[in-house]
Amino acid sequence: MIDLSHLRADFPILHQQVNGQPLVYFDNAASSQKPRAVIDSLVHYYEHDNANVHRGLHALSNRATDAFESAREKLARFIGAASPEEVIFTRGTTESINLVANIWASEFLKPGDIILYTGMEHHSNLVPWQLAAKRSGASVQHIPVLEDGTLDLENINALLTEQVKLFTCVHVSNSLGTINPVKELCARARALGITTLIDGAQAVGHMPVNVQDIGCDFYVFSGHKMCAPTGIGGLYGRAEVLAKMPPWHGGGEMIDLVTLETSTYKAAPARFEAGTPDIAGVIGLGAAIDYLETIGIDRIHEHGAALTSYAMQRLTELPGIRILGPATGDRGSLTAFHLASAHPHDLVEFANTHGLALRGGHHCTQPLMKRFQIPGSSRASFYFYNTTAEIDRMMEILHRAVTFFS
Ligand code: PLP
Repeated sequence: MIDLSHLRADFPILHQQVNGQPLVYFDNAASSQKPRAVIDSLVHYYEHDNANVHRGLHALSNRATDAFESAREKLARFIGAASPEEVIFTRGTTESINLVANIWASEFLKPGDIILYTGMEHHSNLVPWQLAAKRSGASVQHIPVLEDGTLDLENINALLTEQVKLFTCVHVSNSLGTINPVKELCARARALGITTLIDGAQAVGHMPVNVQDIGCDFYVFSGHKMCAPTGIGGLYGRAEVLAKMPPWHGGGEMIDLVTLETSTYKAAPARFEAGTPDIAGVIGLGAAIDYLETIGIDRIHEHGAALTSYAMQRLTELPGIRILGPATGDRGSLTAFHLASAHPHDLVEFANTHGLALRGGHHCTQPLMKRFQIPGSSRASFYFYNTTAEIDRMMEILHRAVTFFS
Protein backbone atom coordinates (compact mmCIF):
# COMPACT_ATOMS: atom_id res chain seq x y z
CA MET A 1 0.00 0.00 0.00
CA ILE A 2 1.31 3.50 -0.82
CA ASP A 3 2.14 5.48 2.30
CA LEU A 4 0.34 8.81 2.21
CA SER A 5 0.45 9.33 5.99
CA HIS A 6 2.72 12.40 5.61
CA LEU A 7 -0.34 14.19 4.16
CA ARG A 8 -2.02 14.07 7.57
CA ALA A 9 0.16 17.04 8.50
CA ASP A 10 -1.84 19.09 5.96
CA PHE A 11 -5.10 18.54 7.90
CA PRO A 12 -5.22 20.54 11.14
CA ILE A 13 -8.47 18.91 12.27
CA LEU A 14 -7.06 15.39 12.35
CA HIS A 15 -4.68 16.20 15.20
CA GLN A 16 -7.11 16.26 18.07
CA GLN A 17 -8.44 14.00 20.78
CA VAL A 18 -12.11 13.07 20.99
CA ASN A 19 -13.33 11.73 24.32
CA GLY A 20 -9.73 11.48 25.46
CA GLN A 21 -8.65 9.34 22.48
CA PRO A 22 -6.92 10.30 19.23
CA LEU A 23 -9.54 11.05 16.60
CA VAL A 24 -10.03 8.39 13.93
CA TYR A 25 -12.16 10.02 11.25
CA PHE A 26 -13.93 7.40 9.13
CA ASP A 27 -16.92 9.47 8.03
CA ASN A 28 -15.43 10.73 4.79
CA ALA A 29 -18.32 9.57 2.60
CA ALA A 30 -20.49 12.07 4.50
CA SER A 31 -17.91 14.87 4.30
CA SER A 32 -14.15 14.91 3.90
CA GLN A 33 -11.77 17.03 5.93
CA LYS A 34 -10.10 20.13 4.49
CA PRO A 35 -6.36 20.62 4.01
CA ARG A 36 -4.59 23.79 5.11
CA ALA A 37 -4.20 24.81 1.42
CA VAL A 38 -8.00 24.98 1.01
CA ILE A 39 -8.54 26.79 4.32
CA ASP A 40 -5.78 29.26 3.34
CA SER A 41 -7.38 29.87 -0.06
CA LEU A 42 -10.57 31.05 1.70
CA VAL A 43 -8.64 33.30 4.08
CA HIS A 44 -6.59 34.70 1.19
CA TYR A 45 -9.70 35.45 -0.81
CA TYR A 46 -11.39 37.28 2.05
CA GLU A 47 -8.23 39.12 3.08
CA HIS A 48 -7.10 40.18 -0.40
CA ASP A 49 -9.57 39.69 -3.25
CA ASN A 50 -13.09 39.80 -1.80
CA ALA A 51 -15.48 41.42 -4.32
CA ASN A 52 -18.36 40.38 -6.50
CA VAL A 53 -17.49 38.57 -9.71
CA HIS A 54 -18.15 39.38 -13.38
CA ARG A 55 -19.64 42.81 -12.64
CA GLY A 56 -16.87 45.08 -11.51
CA LEU A 57 -14.29 46.96 -13.46
CA HIS A 58 -11.99 47.34 -10.49
CA ALA A 59 -8.93 45.39 -9.41
CA LEU A 60 -10.52 43.31 -6.65
CA SER A 61 -13.47 42.26 -8.77
CA ASN A 62 -11.17 41.35 -11.64
CA ARG A 63 -8.98 39.25 -9.34
CA ALA A 64 -12.00 37.50 -7.82
CA THR A 65 -13.42 36.85 -11.30
CA ASP A 66 -10.11 35.41 -12.53
CA ALA A 67 -9.88 33.06 -9.53
CA PHE A 68 -13.54 32.07 -9.93
CA GLU A 69 -13.31 31.31 -13.64
CA SER A 70 -9.95 29.60 -13.29
CA ALA A 71 -11.59 27.21 -10.78
CA ARG A 72 -14.20 26.41 -13.45
CA GLU A 73 -11.42 25.63 -15.92
CA LYS A 74 -9.66 23.38 -13.38
CA LEU A 75 -12.88 21.56 -12.63
CA ALA A 76 -13.68 21.05 -16.31
CA ARG A 77 -10.22 19.56 -16.83
CA PHE A 78 -10.47 17.45 -13.64
CA ILE A 79 -13.69 15.73 -14.75
CA GLY A 80 -12.84 15.62 -18.45
CA ALA A 81 -15.52 18.06 -19.70
CA ALA A 82 -15.09 19.29 -23.26
CA SER A 83 -15.15 22.93 -22.12
CA PRO A 84 -15.55 25.05 -18.95
CA GLU A 85 -18.93 26.21 -20.28
CA GLU A 86 -20.23 22.72 -19.52
CA VAL A 87 -19.55 23.17 -15.79
CA ILE A 88 -22.22 24.89 -13.68
CA PHE A 89 -21.55 25.71 -10.06
CA THR A 90 -24.27 24.61 -7.67
CA ARG A 91 -24.50 23.99 -3.92
CA GLY A 92 -23.73 20.31 -4.53
CA THR A 93 -25.10 17.01 -5.75
CA THR A 94 -28.60 17.52 -4.38
CA GLU A 95 -29.01 20.94 -5.96
CA SER A 96 -27.55 19.75 -9.27
CA ILE A 97 -30.04 16.89 -9.50
CA ASN A 98 -32.90 19.19 -8.56
CA LEU A 99 -31.86 21.61 -11.28
CA VAL A 100 -32.08 18.88 -13.93
CA ALA A 101 -35.20 17.28 -12.44
CA ASN A 102 -36.93 20.67 -12.57
CA ILE A 103 -35.62 22.25 -15.72
CA TRP A 104 -34.71 19.45 -18.09
CA ALA A 105 -37.72 17.48 -16.91
CA SER A 106 -40.16 20.38 -17.31
CA GLU A 107 -39.11 20.71 -20.94
CA PHE A 108 -38.78 17.08 -21.97
CA LEU A 109 -40.91 14.78 -19.76
CA LYS A 110 -44.47 14.06 -20.73
CA PRO A 111 -47.22 11.71 -19.51
CA GLY A 112 -46.37 8.08 -20.17
CA ASP A 113 -42.58 8.61 -20.12
CA ILE A 114 -40.46 6.56 -17.76
CA ILE A 115 -37.66 7.71 -15.48
CA LEU A 116 -35.37 4.76 -14.76
CA TYR A 117 -33.15 4.79 -11.68
CA THR A 118 -31.61 2.04 -9.58
CA GLY A 119 -32.42 0.49 -6.23
CA MET A 120 -29.22 1.83 -4.73
CA GLU A 121 -29.72 5.56 -5.26
CA HIS A 122 -29.26 8.13 -2.52
CA HIS A 123 -32.53 9.85 -1.61
CA SER A 124 -31.31 12.92 -3.46
CA ASN A 125 -31.38 10.91 -6.68
CA LEU A 126 -34.82 9.44 -6.00
CA VAL A 127 -37.01 12.16 -4.51
CA PRO A 128 -36.41 14.87 -7.18
CA TRP A 129 -37.38 12.34 -9.89
CA GLN A 130 -40.46 11.22 -8.00
CA LEU A 131 -41.48 14.88 -7.79
CA ALA A 132 -40.70 15.39 -11.49
CA ALA A 133 -42.76 12.31 -12.36
CA LYS A 134 -45.69 13.65 -10.37
CA ARG A 135 -45.50 17.02 -12.11
CA SER A 136 -45.19 15.61 -15.62
CA GLY A 137 -47.34 12.48 -15.52
CA ALA A 138 -44.29 10.28 -16.11
CA SER A 139 -43.61 7.21 -13.97
CA VAL A 140 -40.55 5.85 -12.20
CA GLN A 141 -39.01 2.39 -12.44
CA HIS A 142 -35.85 0.93 -10.99
CA ILE A 143 -33.12 -1.60 -11.69
CA PRO A 144 -33.06 -4.03 -8.74
CA VAL A 145 -29.99 -4.72 -6.60
CA LEU A 146 -28.59 -8.23 -6.23
CA GLU A 147 -27.62 -9.82 -2.92
CA ASP A 148 -23.93 -9.09 -3.61
CA GLY A 149 -24.67 -5.36 -3.89
CA THR A 150 -24.34 -5.09 -7.67
CA LEU A 151 -27.08 -4.12 -10.11
CA ASP A 152 -29.25 -6.88 -11.50
CA LEU A 153 -28.67 -6.27 -15.19
CA GLU A 154 -30.09 -9.54 -16.43
CA ASN A 155 -33.33 -7.89 -17.53
CA ILE A 156 -31.80 -4.58 -18.52
CA ASN A 157 -33.20 -4.79 -22.07
CA ALA A 158 -36.72 -5.00 -20.66
CA LEU A 159 -36.12 -1.97 -18.40
CA LEU A 160 -34.03 0.30 -20.60
CA THR A 161 -36.52 0.79 -23.42
CA GLU A 162 -37.43 3.63 -25.73
CA GLN A 163 -40.17 4.65 -23.31
CA VAL A 164 -37.46 5.69 -20.85
CA LYS A 165 -36.64 9.39 -21.24
CA LEU A 166 -34.17 9.70 -18.40
CA PHE A 167 -31.83 7.09 -16.96
CA THR A 168 -29.93 7.90 -13.78
CA CYS A 169 -27.50 5.88 -11.73
CA VAL A 170 -25.10 6.40 -8.86
CA HIS A 171 -21.47 6.00 -9.92
CA VAL A 172 -20.24 4.74 -6.52
CA SER A 173 -22.83 3.67 -3.96
CA ASN A 174 -22.52 5.48 -0.63
CA SER A 175 -24.09 2.51 1.17
CA LEU A 176 -22.48 -0.44 -0.58
CA GLY A 177 -19.27 0.84 -2.16
CA THR A 178 -20.34 -0.70 -5.48
CA ILE A 179 -18.81 0.94 -8.54
CA ASN A 180 -21.47 0.73 -11.22
CA PRO A 181 -20.71 0.12 -14.93
CA VAL A 182 -21.85 3.63 -15.83
CA LYS A 183 -20.01 3.77 -19.14
CA GLU A 184 -21.73 0.62 -20.45
CA LEU A 185 -25.11 1.73 -19.15
CA CYS A 186 -24.79 5.21 -20.68
CA ALA A 187 -23.79 3.66 -24.03
CA ARG A 188 -26.93 1.48 -24.00
CA ALA A 189 -29.08 4.47 -23.03
CA ARG A 190 -27.54 6.70 -25.65
CA ALA A 191 -28.22 4.11 -28.37
CA LEU A 192 -31.92 4.48 -27.52
CA GLY A 193 -31.78 8.29 -27.35
CA ILE A 194 -32.22 8.31 -23.55
CA THR A 195 -30.81 11.24 -21.55
CA THR A 196 -28.46 10.15 -18.73
CA LEU A 197 -27.46 11.58 -15.37
CA ILE A 198 -24.74 10.05 -13.20
CA ASP A 199 -24.49 10.79 -9.48
CA GLY A 200 -20.76 11.13 -8.86
CA ALA A 201 -20.94 12.30 -5.23
CA GLN A 202 -18.74 9.41 -4.04
CA ALA A 203 -16.58 9.24 -7.16
CA VAL A 204 -15.14 12.68 -7.96
CA GLY A 205 -11.98 13.26 -5.93
CA HIS A 206 -11.77 9.54 -5.09
CA MET A 207 -11.16 7.93 -8.47
CA PRO A 208 -10.46 9.09 -12.00
CA VAL A 209 -13.63 10.48 -13.59
CA ASN A 210 -13.93 11.47 -17.22
CA VAL A 211 -17.43 12.53 -18.20
CA GLN A 212 -16.74 12.32 -21.93
CA ASP A 213 -15.41 8.80 -21.57
CA ILE A 214 -18.46 7.82 -19.49
CA GLY A 215 -20.62 9.35 -22.21
CA CYS A 216 -23.29 10.79 -19.89
CA ASP A 217 -25.37 13.90 -20.51
CA PHE A 218 -25.21 15.10 -16.88
CA TYR A 219 -22.79 14.32 -14.06
CA VAL A 220 -23.23 15.74 -10.55
CA PHE A 221 -21.01 15.99 -7.48
CA SER A 222 -20.32 17.81 -4.19
CA GLY A 223 -17.15 19.70 -3.28
CA HIS A 224 -17.31 18.92 0.44
CA LYS A 225 -16.62 15.23 -0.17
CA MET A 226 -13.37 16.05 -2.01
CA CYS A 227 -11.57 18.45 0.33
CA ALA A 228 -13.48 21.60 -0.73
CA PRO A 229 -15.75 23.70 1.51
CA THR A 230 -19.39 22.81 2.11
CA GLY A 231 -22.01 24.56 -0.01
CA ILE A 232 -20.26 24.21 -3.35
CA GLY A 233 -20.48 21.54 -6.01
CA GLY A 234 -21.10 21.09 -9.66
CA LEU A 235 -23.27 20.02 -12.51
CA TYR A 236 -21.65 18.89 -15.72
CA GLY A 237 -24.01 19.13 -18.67
CA ARG A 238 -23.14 18.21 -22.25
CA ALA A 239 -23.17 21.50 -24.21
CA GLU A 240 -25.80 20.30 -26.66
CA VAL A 241 -28.18 19.32 -23.83
CA LEU A 242 -27.63 22.50 -21.80
CA ALA A 243 -28.33 24.61 -24.89
CA LYS A 244 -31.86 23.18 -25.05
CA MET A 245 -32.68 23.90 -21.41
CA PRO A 246 -34.53 27.00 -20.20
CA PRO A 247 -33.17 28.90 -17.17
CA TRP A 248 -33.86 27.74 -13.62
CA HIS A 249 -33.66 30.64 -11.19
CA GLY A 250 -34.13 34.10 -12.61
CA GLY A 251 -32.08 37.08 -11.48
CA GLY A 252 -28.84 38.91 -12.03
CA GLU A 253 -26.01 37.44 -14.10
CA MET A 254 -28.15 34.98 -16.07
CA ILE A 255 -29.72 37.54 -18.38
CA ASP A 256 -28.80 39.17 -21.63
CA LEU A 257 -31.43 41.88 -21.82
CA VAL A 258 -34.26 42.76 -19.46
CA THR A 259 -37.24 44.97 -20.20
CA LEU A 260 -40.26 45.59 -18.05
CA GLU A 261 -42.14 43.07 -20.15
CA THR A 262 -39.71 40.25 -20.86
CA SER A 263 -36.08 39.08 -20.75
CA THR A 264 -33.54 37.18 -22.79
CA TYR A 265 -30.94 34.91 -21.25
CA LYS A 266 -27.27 34.15 -21.49
CA ALA A 267 -25.96 30.78 -22.61
CA ALA A 268 -24.66 28.18 -20.12
CA PRO A 269 -23.10 28.28 -17.63
CA ALA A 270 -24.29 31.83 -16.72
CA ARG A 271 -27.90 30.94 -17.65
CA PHE A 272 -27.98 28.54 -14.69
CA GLU A 273 -26.08 30.67 -12.17
CA ALA A 274 -28.45 33.46 -11.17
CA GLY A 275 -27.39 35.89 -8.44
CA THR A 276 -24.13 36.22 -6.54
CA PRO A 277 -22.51 32.79 -6.40
CA ASP A 278 -20.54 31.21 -3.56
CA ILE A 279 -17.33 32.86 -4.74
CA ALA A 280 -15.21 31.76 -1.79
CA GLY A 281 -16.56 28.21 -2.11
CA VAL A 282 -15.65 28.08 -5.79
CA ILE A 283 -12.15 29.35 -5.07
CA GLY A 284 -11.86 26.74 -2.28
CA LEU A 285 -12.98 24.06 -4.73
CA GLY A 286 -10.27 25.19 -7.15
CA ALA A 287 -7.69 24.94 -4.35
CA ALA A 288 -8.97 21.45 -3.46
CA ILE A 289 -8.48 20.30 -7.06
CA ASP A 290 -4.93 21.73 -7.07
CA TYR A 291 -4.25 19.85 -3.84
CA LEU A 292 -5.72 16.54 -5.07
CA GLU A 293 -3.77 16.83 -8.30
CA THR A 294 -0.48 17.18 -6.44
CA ILE A 295 -1.21 13.79 -4.83
CA GLY A 296 -2.57 12.23 -8.02
CA ILE A 297 -6.08 10.82 -8.42
CA ASP A 298 -4.79 7.36 -9.37
CA ARG A 299 -2.81 7.15 -6.14
CA ILE A 300 -5.82 8.36 -4.13
CA HIS A 301 -7.96 5.65 -5.70
CA GLU A 302 -5.35 2.96 -5.19
CA HIS A 303 -4.86 3.93 -1.54
CA GLY A 304 -8.63 3.98 -0.89
CA ALA A 305 -9.05 0.55 -2.49
CA ALA A 306 -6.20 -0.91 -0.44
CA LEU A 307 -7.56 0.53 2.83
CA THR A 308 -11.05 -0.78 2.05
CA SER A 309 -9.81 -4.23 1.21
CA TYR A 310 -7.76 -4.34 4.44
CA ALA A 311 -10.76 -3.17 6.49
CA MET A 312 -13.09 -5.71 4.89
CA GLN A 313 -10.64 -8.50 5.55
CA ARG A 314 -10.25 -7.53 9.20
CA LEU A 315 -13.99 -6.96 9.75
CA THR A 316 -14.63 -10.67 9.11
CA GLU A 317 -13.01 -11.30 12.53
CA LEU A 318 -16.19 -10.02 14.17
CA PRO A 319 -18.81 -12.61 15.07
CA GLY A 320 -22.26 -12.03 13.58
CA ILE A 321 -21.06 -9.48 11.02
CA ARG A 322 -22.73 -8.98 7.66
CA ILE A 323 -20.70 -6.87 5.27
CA LEU A 324 -22.72 -5.18 2.55
CA GLY A 325 -21.65 -4.68 -1.04
CA PRO A 326 -19.35 -6.53 -3.37
CA ALA A 327 -16.87 -8.79 -1.56
CA THR A 328 -14.28 -8.57 -4.33
CA GLY A 329 -13.27 -6.35 -7.22
CA ASP A 330 -12.82 -2.62 -7.52
CA ARG A 331 -15.01 -0.70 -5.10
CA GLY A 332 -15.43 2.70 -3.49
CA SER A 333 -13.36 3.56 -0.43
CA LEU A 334 -15.96 2.59 2.14
CA THR A 335 -17.35 -0.46 3.82
CA ALA A 336 -20.74 -0.79 5.48
CA PHE A 337 -21.70 -3.63 7.77
CA HIS A 338 -24.34 -4.84 10.18
CA LEU A 339 -23.52 -6.49 13.50
CA ALA A 340 -26.10 -8.92 14.82
CA SER A 341 -25.32 -7.86 18.40
CA ALA A 342 -25.74 -4.07 18.09
CA HIS A 343 -28.02 -1.55 16.43
CA PRO A 344 -25.91 0.71 14.15
CA HIS A 345 -26.78 3.80 16.23
CA ASP A 346 -25.61 2.12 19.45
CA LEU A 347 -22.44 0.89 17.79
CA VAL A 348 -21.60 4.31 16.37
CA GLU A 349 -22.19 5.96 19.77
CA PHE A 350 -19.94 3.37 21.40
CA ALA A 351 -17.26 4.07 18.75
CA ASN A 352 -17.55 7.80 19.43
CA THR A 353 -16.77 7.30 23.11
CA HIS A 354 -13.43 5.88 21.88
CA GLY A 355 -12.69 8.73 19.45
CA LEU A 356 -13.81 6.81 16.34
CA ALA A 357 -16.13 8.63 13.91
CA LEU A 358 -18.28 6.14 11.99
CA ARG A 359 -21.72 6.70 10.52
CA GLY A 360 -24.76 4.63 11.41
CA GLY A 361 -28.22 4.58 9.93
CA HIS A 362 -29.81 4.29 6.51
CA HIS A 363 -27.32 6.67 4.84
CA CYS A 364 -30.19 8.26 2.88
CA THR A 365 -30.83 4.95 1.12
CA GLN A 366 -33.96 3.66 2.83
CA PRO A 367 -35.06 1.48 -0.13
CA LEU A 368 -31.68 -0.26 0.00
CA MET A 369 -31.99 -0.99 3.73
CA LYS A 370 -35.43 -2.44 3.03
CA ARG A 371 -33.94 -4.53 0.21
CA PHE A 372 -31.38 -6.02 2.61
CA GLN A 373 -33.91 -6.21 5.47
CA ILE A 374 -31.78 -4.33 7.97
CA PRO A 375 -32.67 -1.26 10.06
CA GLY A 376 -29.49 0.43 8.90
CA SER A 377 -25.77 -0.18 8.78
CA SER A 378 -22.54 1.12 10.27
CA ARG A 379 -20.21 2.63 7.73
CA ALA A 380 -16.48 3.27 7.77
CA SER A 381 -15.45 5.47 4.87
CA PHE A 382 -11.87 6.38 4.07
CA TYR A 383 -9.83 9.04 2.35
CA PHE A 384 -6.19 9.26 1.43
CA TYR A 385 -5.15 10.61 4.85
CA ASN A 386 -6.42 7.49 6.63
CA THR A 387 -4.06 4.67 7.55
CA THR A 388 -4.08 0.94 8.25
CA ALA A 389 -3.06 1.78 11.84
CA GLU A 390 -6.39 3.60 12.16
CA ILE A 391 -8.21 0.54 10.82
CA ASP A 392 -6.40 -1.55 13.44
CA ARG A 393 -7.62 0.93 16.06
CA MET A 394 -11.17 0.64 14.70
CA MET A 395 -10.94 -3.14 15.02
CA GLU A 396 -9.81 -2.88 18.65
CA ILE A 397 -12.86 -0.71 19.35
CA LEU A 398 -15.27 -2.95 17.43
CA HIS A 399 -13.99 -6.07 19.24
CA ARG A 400 -14.70 -4.26 22.52
CA ALA A 401 -18.14 -3.30 21.23
CA VAL A 402 -18.99 -6.91 20.40
CA THR A 403 -18.11 -7.92 23.98
CA PHE A 404 -20.00 -4.94 25.39
CA PHE A 405 -23.22 -5.55 23.44
CA SER A 406 -23.29 -9.37 23.65
N1 PLP B 1 -25.50 11.05 -3.74
C1 PLP B 1 -24.65 10.28 -3.04
C2 PLP B 1 -24.21 8.97 -3.60
C3 PLP B 1 -24.18 10.72 -1.80
O1 PLP B 1 -23.35 9.95 -1.10
C4 PLP B 1 -24.62 11.97 -1.32
C5 PLP B 1 -24.19 12.44 0.02
O2 PLP B 1 -23.85 11.67 0.89
C6 PLP B 1 -25.48 12.74 -2.08
C7 PLP B 1 -25.91 12.24 -3.29
C8 PLP B 1 -25.96 14.08 -1.63
O3 PLP B 1 -24.88 14.96 -1.57
P1 PLP B 1 -25.06 16.43 -0.96
O4 PLP B 1 -25.72 16.27 0.37
O5 PLP B 1 -23.66 16.95 -0.87
O6 PLP B 1 -25.90 17.20 -1.92
